[in-house]
Amino acid sequence: MCRNQRVKLRKWLEGKENTDEVIGLFERNQGDNPACPYCRAINLYRWGKASELQRYRCRQCNRTFNALTGTPLARLRHKDKWFEYEQTKIEGLSIRKSADNCGIAKNTSFKWRHRFLQIPATRQPDKMNGIVEVDETYFLESIKGQRRLPRSARKRGGKAVKKGTSKEQVPVLVVRDPHGETANCILHGTSAQQIEPVLIPLLNKDVILCTDGLPTYKQIA
Ligand SMILES: [Zn+2]
Repeated sequence: MCRNQRVKLRKWLEGKENTDEVIGLFERNQGDNPACPYCRAINLYRWGKASELQRYRCRQCNRTFNALTGTPLARLRHKDKWFEYEQTKIEGLSIRKSADNCGIAKNTSFKWRHRFLQIPATRQPDKMNGIVEVDETYFLESIKGQRRLPRSARKRGGKAVKKGTSKEQVPVLVVRDPHGETANCILHGTSAQQIEPVLIPLLNKDVILCTDGLPTYKQIA
């Protein structure tokens, strides 16, 4: 999800937009000539509509996609209920209560909570300047409110069962500049391939990167 989309989405999630509008925003964000999110080709067929979104089919790789493909909201159903659902999250309702309020299944509520959490909770800053500190940190994946736990419950803020990084731990990139701009982005891994697309758009050309010894940063720099 690019910064532009995030800003729009954040605005919507703050309650300033309704679902139709945000879908419209995503679609307009694609521009008049959307590119295939899988192979970047721009030769596309219009391929009908699904849940109010224009669907495209790529002439090069034959895959279909819409404006939400590649965002945390991709393939989530009941778009008409997202707005209401986000409100229950802001109000701090449990996963179960949110489900009851919105008339969705508890499993759906659980899934949505996680997808919505992937949307950065803080305003993402403009480009960073000066000496920019970058580091990865790990958060334990939240499974609070899930009735059948894939593992035994741990106390709040507890330790991961497995040492080091594991599937339980979600890597987050933290980027900060001397002017106090901070960005937090969930990573899918810590390889250059995964960090670079997140980090580069945050940086002005003349920044000095300050990192630990992770070879990935050297590669990106
Ligand atoms: Zn393609």
